[in-house]
Amino acid sequence: MNQKDLKYFEGLIQEKIQKIRKDLDHFGENVMSGTNTELAGDLSAYATHPSDQSSGAAEREYAFMLASKEGRFLHHLNEALERIKDGTFGTCRICGKDISRARLEAVPHATMCIQCKSEEERIQRERR
Ligand SMILES: [Zn+2]
Repeated sequence: MNQKDLKYFEGLIQEKIQKIRKDLDHFGENVMSGTNTELAGDLSAYATHPSDQSSGAAEREYAFMLASKEGRFLHHLNEALERIKDGTFGTCRICGKDISRARLEAVPHATMCIQCKSEEERIQRERR
């Protein structure tokens, strides 16, 4: 992947990160202030130690973030940015071939090409 493409995907990923951060801020406010009890109830299912007051607010916030779908997505996007920096972005981590541009456009944090991904999904289905 050339520098121009890397720049393009870096921009694409950063745009997504900004958008999720905004969504998460909004989401977090609602839950923390208790205005959305239904949502808070859902999230409590993810809390490992709801009564543990010893962990810092930042840690709780991070745990909360990772417990949400958006938070995990954010984590994957940040990893994709790391891969842009270290030059492994766009390369399948299984077979080492280039991940197609169309796939990266749809899933910029993809670490596997479509062949390896469908192979993995097939194996996971068989395990069940
Ligand atoms: Zn592959």
